[in-house]
Amino acid sequence: MNILVTGAAGYIGSHTCRQLIESGHQVTGYDNLSRGHQEAFDRASAGGKLVIGDLANTPLLVRSLRENEIQAVVHFAAFGLVGESVEHPELYRQNNVEGSRSLLQAMLEANVKRLVVSSTTAIYGEPSQMPISEDNPAAPINPYGQSKWEVEQMLVNAQEQHGLGFTALRYFNAAGASLDGLLGEDHEPETHLIPIVLQVALGQRDRISIFGDDYSTPDGTCVRDYVHVLDLASAHVRALERLQPGELLQVNLGSGIGTSVQEIVEQARRVTGHPIPADIVPRRPGDPPCLIANNQLAKSELGWQPVHSDITTILSTAWDWHHRHPRGYTP
Ligand code: UDP
Repeated sequence: MNILVTGAAGYIGSHTCRQLIESGHQVTGYDNLSRGHQEAFDRASAGGKLVIGDLANTPLLVRSLRENEIQAVVHFAAFGLVGESVEHPELYRQNNVEGSRSLLQAMLEANVKRLVVSSTTAIYGEPSQMPISEDNPAAPINPYGQSKWEVEQMLVNAQEQHGLGFTALRYFNAAGASLDGLLGEDHEPETHLIPIVLQVALGQRDRISIFGDDYSTPDGTCVRDYVHVLDLASAHVRALERLQPGELLQVNLGSGIGTSVQEIVEQARRVTGHPIPADIVPRRPGDPPCLIANNQLAKSELGWQPVHSDITTILSTAWDWHHRHPRGYTP
């Protein structure tokens, strides 16, 4: 298929481009490079075509869809930081919700009826049921989760009114790097737990701050479901290859295993051989205590299996990436 990938220069986007190309698809990237890296896309696609443009630019999207005879879109381009969304909710509404509206409008204009879209566990808020299955009601507690939930609802409407086919993939915590060390995580500023812990091991930071140890979890620190970026990428390829116009699927992508912040720090000490000093600091606003996926639907509907999502593989591939590329994609 000819596929347009928005956010193709981002972390999950670049890994997915690589797997799509390896599976025989023709990929056109679309990214405004506000947070992504041209180098990530170039490596992932071995010099493929990247349109540098903003989601708000509907005419450019229409042109990109038509000129490249696009049959399906994979939509990653979005802001994805809980803390930032609490501080700047309008940024999240504009970029995530309005950006997706512009993309949808362009797709309808160009008559492209297949879409695989990034969503998030943050739409569930603080769910009462654990592990979380897809029938858990959406009740986001931060603007990031709210923005992604609004996008899903917008797409449900488009499915009903225009016969759009879409699969929303609700990620838990993306982590890890490619097995050959070519692609990995590079955010500026970095706010995610695993890269920060590894930056301490590299000597780029002095200590890791653990945000709260008074949660109602076994060791008091937050529990998350870390899922390897390669497993996320393979789910996108599967979702795309089975998707038909008019179909709708909303599915969790997680390993099904919960790991606490404290456990991540301890496992990172083991993998890196570095003491990684840690301090307990107050909670970060917007963080729910525990998020673990029920991933049965992804297994049954997509035939998906997480194969790299054990914590040792996640940490060792991420460590390899950070070690080889201490400045990320910056030369
Ligand atoms: N976290 C932490 N210290 C940090 C960064 C993150 O204790 O410097 C915690 C955070 O409170 C959350 C978990 O690590 O419980 C994962 O956070 P991250 O930002 O990586 O992903 P999120 O769950 O927000 O998507």
